[in-house]
Amino acid sequence: MQPITWENYTPTGWGPEGMPEVDDVRPHQCPRCRKPAKEGARVYLQGHGHRVREVVVRPAVEDLEPLVVECWSRRYRCTRCGAVVTVLPVGVLSRCLYSVMAIVHAFILVSAAPVGAGLSEEEAYDIQGMNPSRRWTTPFPYRWRSLDRWRKRIGSWWPGCRGVSELLVELFSRASRSGLREVLAVAVGSHIQWGAAM
Ligand SMILES: [Zn+2]
Repeated sequence: MQPITWENYTPTGWGPEGMPEVDDVRPHQCPRCRKPAKEGARVYLQGHGHRVREVVVRPAVEDLEPLVVECWSRRYRCTRCGAVVTVLPVGVLSRCLYSVMAIVHAFILVSAAPVGAGLSEEEAYDIQGMNPSRRWTTPFPYRWRSLDRWRKRIGSWWPGCRGVSELLVELFSRASRSGLREVLAVAVGSHIQWGAAM
């Protein structure tokens, strides 16, 4: 996997123009039947098309708006068991509009100090939500419902991690410095390292 590079907190190489060749990102084995993707010249995990999808890539820090861009997505189909596997750029999650960085940044915003910023979910949405200008009419306190969905998936994205506090403590302790950029890079790197399905 290529290292994460940043330009104004936007990872490069995610756009459709950066789509890798079908052989370059083929998983080594089928995640369902665990059989090898290839045996000799025979390919069992075959290319099954590609498409472009949207992803929120940019943490809204330093007065930047959250940014929604297009990214590439490749699919493979296992001819042995029929499973369809989606491969995405590093840091992009399957069936999730927000990137790893955007989600971890949202966790940091709503977590208590000193690790987090201690904001309400409404304040956090105004900063990192996809549509910060949206005004809601539902009764206060406003709940950012995606946060609940993301909290439930922490264990599948970072196996071994049971909750937001445990995740953030782990990420901050692994980062060489405590800047947001370093912590988010660790979040993306550890997500891959820990082998969550992409
Ligand atoms: Zn299979």
